[in-house]
Amino acid sequence: CGIVGYVGPQPALEVVVDGLARLEYRGYDSAGIAVLSDGRLQTEKRAGKLANLRAVLDHDAPPADGIGIGHTRWATHGPPTDINAHPHVDNDNRVAVIHNGIIENFAPLRLELEERGCKFTSETDTEVTAHLLAEELKERGDRDLAGAMRSVCRRLEGAFTLVAMFADAPELVVAARRNSPLVVGRGEGENFLASDVAAFIAHTRDAVELGQDQVVELRADSVTVTDYDGRPADVREYHVDWDA
Ligand code: GLU
Repeated sequence: CGIVGYVGPQPALEVVVDGLARLEYRGYDSAGIAVLSDGRLQTEKRAGKLANLRAVLDHDAPPADGIGIGHTRWATHGPPTDINAHPHVDNDNRVAVIHNGIIENFAPLRLELEERGCKFTSETDTEVTAHLLAEELKERGDRDLAGAMRSVCRRLEGAFTLVAMFADAPELVVAARRNSPLVVGRGEGENFLASDVAAFIAHTRDAVELGQDQVVELRADSVTVTDYDGRPADVREYHVDWDA
């Protein structure tokens, strides 16, 4: 339902949770975040209101290195439970993904992954993408999260905005879309992404709207957009001049 990503010098956890709060008006049933702390992926997720997640984070917030992602879920596959909330991670806890939309062909992908030994923890359609990304990263020698994302997206059917973080890529957030919205907010030495500009207009009003079947690599000082084959893609840049 709601998606937020951040790369930059501000406290990533606060920026992400604040962004999720700005998307609350859209409705949701669960919320979660992922950050990196000393190269280790840390996730927290809870069914119910953002306040439930905040209560856990207030008590025990993981220190965040400078990148973070957050999600508010509107369940389509699997009931709204803590486990089904996003982010979802691979079996080695090195890749975290959040997802809006529906992966129509998740069932055959899940079977295929289970045959190769993947253990699933949730009932969501989303979780296949965490395991697929982990496999693609392994094939690439733990490099090239964007290349891994492009390969995974080519195998997916349906509607998705997918955002991923990787423990070995501490300065990078990668996202992709098909039939589901994704906008980037360009800052000074920091960049944002979200399902809706409302999540980041407190920080910047310079937006980049991704087109169909595009992938973005978000770093603190760069925004690179390609198609699913890795070719540079055209995007629409605009200034948000209304109040949200
Ligand atoms: N289909 C996914 C799920 O049920 C994502 C739902 C959403 O867009 O929030 O977990």
